[in-house]
Amino acid sequence: MTDRYAVIGHPISHSKSPQIHAAFAQATGQDLSYTAIEAPLDGFAATVQAFRHEGGRGANVTLPFKMQACELATHPSEAARLAGAANALKFEGERVYAENFDGIGLVNDIQRNLGHALQGKRVLLLGAGGATRGALLPIAQQGPAVLAVVNRTADKAHALGRDFAAHAMLQTGGYDDLEGETFDVVINATSAGLAGEALPLPAGLFASGALAYDMVYGKGLPPFLRQAQAAGVTALADGVGMLVEQAAEAFLWWRGVRPATREVIARLSVPLV
Ligand code: NAP
Repeated sequence: MTDRYAVIGHPISHSKSPQIHAAFAQATGQDLSYTAIEAPLDGFAATVQAFRHEGGRGANVTLPFKMQACELATHPSEAARLAGAANALKFEGERVYAENFDGIGLVNDIQRNLGHALQGKRVLLLGAGGATRGALLPIAQQGPAVLAVVNRTADKAHALGRDFAAHAMLQTGGYDDLEGETFDVVINATSAGLAGEALPLPAGLFASGALAYDMVYGKGLPPFLRQAQAAGVTALADGVGMLVEQAAEAFLWWRGVRPATREVIARLSVPLV
């Protein structure tokens, strides 16, 4: 029988996950279906329950339900608990397992696909929302020399520093604290670019040979990457690889088979111009 999976969010029509998982299933010969389900804003748990009763084996979860996904799990992973959010669920009998693969997807994209090792590097995350929460542990596990988080609301960055104290020594602050600092990898995990807004980045922020990575994808050259390019950075990447790599981790978790990602990333990529 064909195994059923889905991505649940609101809205959901924009989601590329059905396309990505269909490509993975075809390439690996796995017999599964993967659909997109829009849950009512006040009906996430009921939607998950109904999907399980219909035989659903697992689901991806996207905005605005990632926190609720972690809460309803009976067995959340350490990564999901630390992030306070999950983007993948697996159903086994009465058990609901939850994982957060956004961070490992980001790390795999940066290191494997883009060829920028994080070990020993000075790494900066811009933003202190859910995406940064999900990314911190997997990045810290690579052994960067410095892992810094700055946020428009500096207190939220400081709170992250406290929450992750047992796992990583974070440098935290606001954009003013970036004056005089230089980083090898700068990751934009804010949603500023979605509103077309640039970030208050000081001159000299990017080290020679730095990578500028924007988690936003499919928007051409977003404002942050434009800023990096103007500062002389040539290694620019948007978040399409992160999206496909987190999907590959979920596929492996559900099916026990790791799909190849490069071709799918290439197919979904929009030129950075
Ligand atoms: P979130 O929890 O809503 O956090 C948004 C963050 O952006 C906050 O730190 C917020 O700062 C900051 N921000 C918003 N507008 C800003 C502005 N004008 N100037 C400076 N900072 C601003 O969102 P999220 O879930 O972390 O997602 C962040 C981004 O990552 C989104 O664009 C999302 O699409 C993307 N993302 C991509 C992937 C992928 O697979 N590629 C996965 C997850 C997320 P304050 O705290 O001060 O409000």
